[in-house]
This record gives sequence, structure tokens and C-alpha cells, in this order.
Amino acid sequence: EEANNNTESPYISSILPGWFSEISPLWPGEAHSLKVEKILFQGKSDYQNVMVFQSSTYGKVLSLDGVIQLTERDECAYQEMITHLPLCSIPNPRKVLVIGGGDGGVLREVSRHSSVEQIDICEIDKMVIDVSKQFFPNVAIGYEDPRVKLHVGDGVAFLKNVPEGTYDAVIVDSSDPIGPAQELFEKPFFESVARALRRGGVVCTQAESIWLHMHIIEDIVANCRQIFKGSVNYAWTTVPTYPSGVIGFMVCSTEGPAVDFKNPINPIDVDDSHTKTRGPLKFYNSEIHSASFCLPSFAKRVIESK
Ligand code: SAM
Repeated sequence: EEANNNTESPYISSILPGWFSEISPLWPGEAHSLKVEKILFQGKSDYQNVMVFQSSTYGKVLSLDGVIQLTERDECAYQEMITHLPLCSIPNPRKVLVIGGGDGGVLREVSRHSSVEQIDICEIDKMVIDVSKQFFPNVAIGYEDPRVKLHVGDGVAFLKNVPEGTYDAVIVDSSDPIGPAQELFEKPFFESVARALRRGGVVCTQAESIWLHMHIIEDIVANCRQIFKGSVNYAWTTVPTYPSGVIGFMVCSTEGPAVDFKNPINPIDVDDSHTKTRGPLKFYNSEIHSASFCLPSFAKRVIESK
């Protein structure tokens, strides 16, 4: 039965039977593969193909349109960094907005911050939320925090209706710029993020790989420099199951009280009140926070020249 399941998915490699191969025009000429133990879920939502499988070495895996979104083994490296880079850089974050992030992992991380009073999330695809609750309880646990308010809809439309200056921090945990997330990489979207932030507020957005997407990153940086008048920075982390093994973030602030992202002033308590239910941080610490802004020379040249 398992073998049948495995051959039924269009994302199972015909070259490596029983393996998931991540093929996309966003990384032509390469395809990272994971051995599939069992396909656990396949569905088609209004927006994308949703699939969950048990891999043999990374635990359960969630993919959207054949692109890996998270695995149980390495999701900490992404969720902790995209969340704590912005939130540990400002004193007492109170209101936080998450765009995308339907799996709930960013919510889990935001909720470690005791100063936070309100956590809004706008995810476009209800199927991602339901699937995460069913198959990734340690990620979807983020939804159990009473400060979380879920909005199912398009993040672009949601932001247009947010009153100016509402949030201390916006975290954009999006998929890649093909499909429903395309607009989340465009200038008008960044403008509405800036509008939604208070003075000296911070944003952290998923910003692709320095090995694969320098052309996309260049455009994002150029846009952000025009829009975010506080500071504009690129940080990165390692996520073994993302294409090229690394992923970056645009970490910016609006005009107002200066934010020195490279020196976190709001270190997260090791004994935060949620360690009991969510477990301790696995990846993030203050040293890796500062280090994540150090760039290889080839990327530094491009990013600083924009
Ligand atoms: N948190 C994950 C991880 O650990 O790597 C990764 C990505 S998360 C699943 C990306 C989410 O962004 C998807 O659930 C997708 O449906 C959502 N998304 C894409 N476009 C969107 C949009 N325009 N508005 C809101 N959510 C969107």
C-alpha cells in the first residue's frame, strides 16, 4: 500500500522511486531529495497542492506545490530566527502581525515573548492550518495561545485595512514568489507593511537564498531602502531542507527610535514562561543573532551597493 501511495504523487521522483524531489524553476538544474517512508496527506486547496509525508531522516515534511515548507527536524532554525531577529531587537514588543505562517510555528515563537499582548495572523490557505494542526502538533501549538487572533485571507488585502501605526513588529513568513505569495515580494506590499508599523517598528520577511536568488534579493533590498527609513539589513540562517541549505531575511525598521538589529537589546529569557509547553529554544541565541548579519563578500557587495 505504501509503495502505491508513493508512486501516486506527482512530486515523487521517477528517477529515484520512493524519493521526494524538489523540482522548481526557482532553482533550475538541481533538486534536493528526501526518502519517503509514507505519504500521509495529499490535497488540493483553492491556492496550492498540499502534501505531508513521513521522511526517513527529517521527520514529517510539509510541502506546498512540491516545495518544502518545513520539516520537523529543522523547522526550528527558520521559525526561531524569523521571529526573534525582529522581536529581540526592540524593547517590549506588544502588537505583532504574522503574514503567512499558517503552520503556526512563528506563532509558537512569538508567544514566548511575555511583553506581547496581541498576535494577529493572516494566512491565505485554511488547508495549511488544518493540516498543521493534524500532523504537526508541536508547530501548530502556536495557535493555542489566547493572544492569537486568526484571519484567513490574503495578507495583501488584510494589510490595506490595518490602521496606520498599529504594530510594533510584522513578520512575513511567506512561501516563494511563485503562486499566492508573489505579491508579498513586491513594492506596494512593503509600503503597506511600513504604513502598518509604528515609528521605529520592525519587519522581518522571508527573503530567499543568497546562492540562488541574488537577483530577487537585489530588488527587494532596493525597494526596502526606499521604504524603510530606519534601517535595512539582510540576515541569513541555515535550513538543510531549503534549496541551497540557506534562507535569508530582510530585517528593517521604520523611521523613529533607532533599532540596532545587530545588537539585540531584548534577549529572550532562557526560562521563558513557555519553555514548559513549547520546549526550550533549539537554535536561536544572542550570538547567532548578531552573527546572522555577517554576509559572504559576494552578497555583501551586492546588498550594500543597493
Ligand atoms: N513557516 C514555514 C517554515 O517553517 O518554513 C514556512 C512557510 S509558511 C507554510 C508559508 C505560508 O504563506 C503558506 O502557508 C502560504 O499559504 C502562505 N501564503 C502565501 N501567500 C499568502 C498571501 N498572499 N497571504 C497570506 N498568506 C500567504
